[in-house]
Amino acid sequence: MSNTETKDVPYKPTSPNSKLDFASVWEYAPAPQDSDFAEVKEKYDLFIDGKFVKPSKGRYFKSTNPANEEVITEFAEATQKDVDKAVKAARKAFEGEWSRISAKERGKYIYRIARMIQERAREFAILESMDGGKPIRESRDVDIPLVAAYFFYYAGWADKLEYAFPGKQPEPLGVCGQIIPWNFPLLMLAWKIAPALATGNTVVLKPAETTSLTALKFAELVKDCGLPDGVVNIVTGAGQTGAEIVNHKDVDKIAFTGSTKVGKLIQSSLAGTDKKYTLELGGKGAMLIFEDAPIDQAVEGIINAIYFNQGHVCCAGSRLLVQEGIADKVIQKLKDRLATLIVGDPLDKNTDVGAINSKEQFETVNKYLELGVEEGADIYQCDCKVPDNGYFIRPTLFTNVSQSNRIVQEEIFGPVLTVQTFRTAEEGIEKTNNTPYGLANGVWTDKGSKIFKVGSKMRSGVIWANTYNKFDPTSPFGGYKESGVGREGGMHGLAAYIKN
Ligand code: ADP
Repeated sequence: MSNTETKDVPYKPTSPNSKLDFASVWEYAPAPQDSDFAEVKEKYDLFIDGKFVKPSKGRYFKSTNPANEEVITEFAEATQKDVDKAVKAARKAFEGEWSRISAKERGKYIYRIARMIQERAREFAILESMDGGKPIRESRDVDIPLVAAYFFYYAGWADKLEYAFPGKQPEPLGVCGQIIPWNFPLLMLAWKIAPALATGNTVVLKPAETTSLTALKFAELVKDCGLPDGVVNIVTGAGQTGAEIVNHKDVDKIAFTGSTKVGKLIQSSLAGTDKKYTLELGGKGAMLIFEDAPIDQAVEGIINAIYFNQGHVCCAGSRLLVQEGIADKVIQKLKDRLATLIVGDPLDKNTDVGAINSKEQFETVNKYLELGVEEGADIYQCDCKVPDNGYFIRPTLFTNVSQSNRIVQEEIFGPVLTVQTFRTAEEGIEKTNNTPYGLANGVWTDKGSKIFKVGSKMRSGVIWANTYNKFDPTSPFGGYKESGVGREGGMHGLAAYIKN
């Protein structure tokens, strides 16, 4: 846009505090990511025992791009027979070749996987965005670099397990069944597969039905890197396929990330068996912003906490608790910042908020938006442009909510923030802890002592201070209460894959 054209556009401030209304004055030129080189086959088979094999019943299901509702490819539906085949392959590898490979060599395979992910990073990022709807900026700068980082980190531990667990002779569990969700497809695969391999286990992994593409690309990479057959098996399918893994008699451990509803089902199926399990479930994270917090920095943090990955984040900061004296100021700044977010094509490098992952989730989030209004809350959405096709929802915030509202208590898993106020630290902590979940929370203040005082009373597995949604392979991650059991990441994540 030339300078002359810019002058012709009337300046419309959104609030008395606004310096410039970027949304109407500036238009970003499209910056599409070239996706031609990321090859997608018409159909993907199951990956069992080092080979791509057809599903026993010959059934496939379609996978669509949530940004334009077009079919991308088809995945095989694994039945009980296919899962059994995968578990047998994993058992054979566990007792055979994989167990004879030295820890150092095992580590080398994992390093090789990490390096190959880095080499093919852009391809993986494109496929992740096409299949799942997340902005390419996030898959490129967050998801895929973290995937490589988790493989590098656990590769390093493979030949040092006796130092991680002094006085023990760490032994692997055996065959691990791993079931992952659709919000961070390749990253959740890395969280599961990297520590399992580092400790000498073999795996049968099931990606989520709407986002299986990068797991099958990963299977190609596993083949290319020469990992012995049967060490990693990938079976696709919906909930029933997951249940077949959970209920298979020869599986030694279940690692699950997904909804609290399915987590409870899995926990009850496993009761009375000697299978180990880790469950990483839902959340309803709160962010406590104190009057002494650096406000502009906090506003950026809140935006990242809730609108990152369309709010499809189990540890998302979906509740803002702001100290009364600064509430108006923070809410106004948030509204101004919302107006600048670009919602649209996930493959455009300017996009901040991409597509909702599936039609089903799109309907769920919309139901919560209606529910919030019915519950008497005030809804605010920016009037940004949104594509006509695909599943897009404007970043939303609700004010005038109360603690008992369902939009405050229940996990929405979308770009929806609720805003409440508090007066004292005690009240803020009370409101933070008053939900069924306990995965992650955040605190924003200028005082280190307040971070420790408040943080130590927040009941959640993760507490971020003056930041949010930051992940590191060395840090354990997991929940209290209905957010799950067990920890992933760091040395805790290793411990979950060895015998006691
Ligand atoms: P979300 O609500 O985030 O989609 P789900 O818990 O439904 O989460 O799904 C997470 C993963 O669990 C997916 O891979 C899904 O196919 C799988 N899954 C769903 N139902 C079951 C079940 N009954 N047993 C095992 N896995 C399941």
